[in-house]
Amino acid sequence: MRRILTILDLFRVDTSNPDLMQAQMRALHNHVPLLYLILAINSTAVAVTHLGVAPNWITVYPLVGLLSVCALRLGLWLRRRQRPLDAQATPAKLRATIALAGLLAASFMAWGVALLRYGDAYAQAHVLFYVGNTMIACAFCLAHLRAASLLVMAIVVVPFCLYVGYLDNHVMRAIALNLLVVSGALAFVLLTYHRDFTRLIGQQVELERLSRDNLRLANIDTLTGLPNRRSFFTSLEAATQAAEARGDGFVVGLVDLDGFKPVNDAHGHGAGDAVLQETAGRLQAVLGDSGVVARLGGDEFGLILSSAHGATALAKTGEALCGALAAPFRLPNGGSAQIAASIGFASCPEAGYKSAILVERADYALYYAKANSRGSAVLFTEEHERLLRTQSVIEQALRHADLAREMSLVYQPIVDVRSGRTIAFEALARWKSPELGQISPAVFVPIAERSGLITRITAVLFGQALAAARAWPDSIALSFNLSMADIASPQAAANIVATVKASGLAPGRVVLEATETALIQDVDQAQKVLRTLRANGIAIALDDFGTGYSSLSYVHRLPLDKLKIDRSFISEITTDPASRDIVTSILALARNLKLCCVVEGIETAEQARLLESLGCVQMQGYHFHRPMGFSDTLDYLDAEVARAPHRVQAVA
Ligand code: C2E
Ligand code: CA
Ligand code: CA
Repeated sequence: MRRILTILDLFRVDTSNPDLMQAQMRALHNHVPLLYLILAINSTAVAVTHLGVAPNWITVYPLVGLLSVCALRLGLWLRRRQRPLDAQATPAKLRATIALAGLLAASFMAWGVALLRYGDAYAQAHVLFYVGNTMIACAFCLAHLRAASLLVMAIVVVPFCLYVGYLDNHVMRAIALNLLVVSGALAFVLLTYHRDFTRLIGQQVELERLSRDNLRLANIDTLTGLPNRRSFFTSLEAATQAAEARGDGFVVGLVDLDGFKPVNDAHGHGAGDAVLQETAGRLQAVLGDSGVVARLGGDEFGLILSSAHGATALAKTGEALCGALAAPFRLPNGGSAQIAASIGFASCPEAGYKSAILVERADYALYYAKANSRGSAVLFTEEHERLLRTQSVIEQALRHADLAREMSLVYQPIVDVRSGRTIAFEALARWKSPELGQISPAVFVPIAERSGLITRITAVLFGQALAAARAWPDSIALSFNLSMADIASPQAAANIVATVKASGLAPGRVVLEATETALIQDVDQAQKVLRTLRANGIAIALDDFGTGYSSLSYVHRLPLDKLKIDRSFISEITTDPASRDIVTSILALARNLKLCCVVEGIETAEQARLLESLGCVQMQGYHFHRPMGFSDTLDYLDAEVARAPHRVQAVA
């Protein structure tokens, strides 16, 4: 019983394997038209040799009927080739094909048998040849549909052989035996072929699945599940092309988290990962279907806002995005973290149609936001375009500058107000470009930092500063400003130490100033570098203190000697109680951490008096002296020596 069922299975469509059915359908699309062509030509040839031999109602009429059915089916198959496969309808189509194959096989075979009774031995031999040959050709054309192929063979061979055996003609019997043997072999080959074909399709499907998975993985950020950088740029390219074709626009956004690194450093990578995942979710929640959110790497995210936003609508979206990220983040360890995000937008076509340019401009808007309004979104405008152009002019001039000739230093005294004596000079860079004239360090230093030129500038200036300091009395220190790139590696630290040693100036007279932003990019690295410097006797000052966003949490982790309170607190200290409170608390903090404090930007005697009453000792600012050239520092020091004793007496 079971064996019969297995045999019956050979004639069924395997509906449990949809991929196989699709592949069978595709193969039939190619082979079935060929089958009908062979059938038509072979049958017509037989009919022609029997014309006039057998009556027309046997030769011509049945054939016309059968060939009409074949022509209809051929038309259908040819039309199917133009259309995509319909997976739902495939099983029914395959079943219909099997049934029709059986029906046509039986009909043509019956027609052939009917013709056998007419004509001479040649004509009969032609019919035998026709039946066997055509059956084999059709079985081959249907090879991908095992059931149809076997059915055709069974329907033709079995009755045909029985009939021929019954005729009692030994030549015919021999031919029938030939056909039987060949059919048996063919059936065996077909069964093997079907098994291999099924296996091949299975492998193909698996391969396609794997390559789909690979493609998906290559385009997805595994941490957040968002599209990754590669996918973002592909989408962006598609968006620019679509916008250009349709003549409309869209907006590119770059999001950068402010204060992510401290969370990662202080709470561990698990916390950092959680923050990034949460960030992804919040960005998606705000944008919904109106945009794409991608993770570009680190704490940087990319946005593509599909609809052409007006400036006001975009500002609202920006506010909503920043607002969403300003809410506290819950950390896996139960704590929470406050993070903010700055966003740069560039809209297409206003900022360009090229994706690289759009990203560059969004990046500039982001940089602008970080420098001027942290925690907010900035849209790239014509004003930025103008700035960017100026900056690129400056960058070009800087690249081609003769640094040793064009760069110089001025020195601003840092005064101990108890003794009235200058204790140090801060070296401040000056650049006079032959083409652009005098350019402020507030302008060219950030450009040099962004373009990687700063280390060369530092090398030139540090040499000049050390030489100047050697001309001052031993009691006067040199305070020199460093950028992030200057302290980014142990090698950089070693270079600084070597330069100081080579200059002959006692390392104890050197103070290096770095901003918090420069130091917290990589706290571990900064700690190592600062330790090396301090181990060699060089002092470290944290510059612009109070302007960073995580100030207090970081000070105790960095090996520091000095804090320089940012001048933004000083300008309003006599009028704004909040500024006074901040300065008071920073002074208390410095005292607790046993750090020396310098207040900079003091412009009036009133400010100096107030700060002195709060306990400030070291001060710097226009009130004491503006930055001056090197030779002026020597006159200045001489003058100070001449007047200092009075001041000391006055204090005493
Ligand atoms: P900074 O390190 O905070 O330097 C102090 C800045 O405040 C200097 O501006 C100085 O001229 C100015 N300043 C001093 N006293 C007063 C005052 O009473 N009122 C006002 N309004 N300003 C005062 P400068 O020379 O334009 O330098 C700007 C910034 O450029 C510096 O800020 C520093 O961040 C950077 N910089 C200057 N020279 C160098 C350098 O050689 N290397 C690096 N990496 N950065 C430098
Ligand atoms: Ca400084
Ligand atoms: Ca400063």
